[in-house]
Amino acid sequence: MKLEKEIPYKIYLSEDELPRYWYNVRADMKNKPAPLLNAATGKPMTAEELGQVFCDELVAQELNDTDRDILIPTEIRDFYKMYRPAPLTRAYCLEEKLGTPAKIYYKFEGNNTSGSHKLNSAIAQAYYAKKQGLKGVTTETGAGQWGTALSMACAYLGLDCKVFMVKCSYEQKPFRREVMRTYGASVTPSPSMETAVGRKILAEHPGTSGSLGCAISEAVEVASKDPAYRYVLGSVLNQVGLHQSIIGLEAKAAMDKYGIKPDIIIGCAGGGSNLIGLIAPFMGEKLRGEADYRFIAVEPVTCPSFTRGRFAYDYCDTGAICPLAKMYTLGSSFIPAATHAGGLRFHGMSPVLSQLYHDGLMEAMAVEQTRVFEAAEMFARCEGTLPAPESSHAIYAAMQEALKCKETGEEKVILFGLTGTGYFDMYAYEKFHNGDMVDYAPADEELEAAFARLPKID
Ligand SMILES: *Cc1c(COP(=O)(O)O)cnc(C)c1O
Repeated sequence: MKLEKEIPYKIYLSEDELPRYWYNVRADMKNKPAPLLNAATGKPMTAEELGQVFCDELVAQELNDTDRDILIPTEIRDFYKMYRPAPLTRAYCLEEKLGTPAKIYYKFEGNNTSGSHKLNSAIAQAYYAKKQGLKGVTTETGAGQWGTALSMACAYLGLDCKVFMVKCSYEQKPFRREVMRTYGASVTPSPSMETAVGRKILAEHPGTSGSLGCAISEAVEVASKDPAYRYVLGSVLNQVGLHQSIIGLEAKAAMDKYGIKPDIIIGCAGGGSNLIGLIAPFMGEKLRGEADYRFIAVEPVTCPSFTRGRFAYDYCDTGAICPLAKMYTLGSSFIPAATHAGGLRFHGMSPVLSQLYHDGLMEAMAVEQTRVFEAAEMFARCEGTLPAPESSHAIYAAMQEALKCKETGEEKVILFGLTGTGYFDMYAYEKFHNGDMVDYAPADEELEAAFARLPKID
């Protein structure tokens, strides 16, 4: 590895340089994301309605389109110090391997036990639940990263944590489940007999291995029946993007220290929370006309919300009990094929990112999973860090951009988000190594069928 004299391998911020405010990019957006709608009335959800499901302070953040800087409470900032600031790494070895004149940087968010960026929002959501005097929170988890992050946050604050885990993951990922139980969470395979909606689904589909939408419905039901509980969600919502702005703020502070300005900023996109968090402060500059950047969202070909979806009001859950959000969506009835990037298997996308994409402020691309694992393996071999399959979508795109620079000779600066560790995904790596991984893209007819069932709202 040949280091440039003036740029270290890793740029560290001190504890004191940890941001004191989250940045709310909605304040700088001319076209605000459309409001959540009450599915029954078709009217925007009021704070009161949202407060029946979500914590009060989080509802305020969800609806706040005007305040640019939101103070990070000291208690949350102190928790962040357990694993932040996360260093910004220059991918010197990857650059050398690719033979590119591009300069590649990445921000690794997998350096905590939960293994991903999700802890940044989990601690915030748990904190506001505690502050409201609640006994606990409920949630769903698919691949398991969000449930793990929330369990850690709840253990720290002494809150009860009930996780509904999609049954097939519950069975396939026993270690994820045990990590959650180590942190004191109760983990129930979904669908379960514990809720009315679970019993109904089991009666209709005996032996089903569950889905994220079904687990959401169960978690929401439990929270809405007990006034001492609220439901929390790990992506998509405005509040989650707000908490994740810590990623971009730290990355920008680290770059500013050395006078580095990225040309291209890349992130994987499932529900969009890490990506909006990473790009937020840079997007703010672009929106205010102070600087220009290219932003690229990378999604799996199996679940192409941006690249093949519609910009429309849709349900966030398969059970259609949550409010309607205006977003790029494949339709809530669309069930993505099982891919190994479980965290990217969501039919919709953050309304904030959706609006930015709709306004032409961001680009998107979709990648096949075998390409993603090739990139993951190459990255692991030269940079050392074992990446999560989700994060590896961003690695792939960063490599593509770096190879373009090799052709043109341009020394572009590329920043990408490395959202998590791949330690819990070795089953997927095994499939890849054995040559058992197949690529799949949904047919147009399959997408059209789901679009036809979108709720009829403009
Ligand atoms: C959940 C997850 C994602 C996708 O979620 P976003 O809300 O789109 O950020 C990406 N990477 C990892 C490691 C995850 O756990």
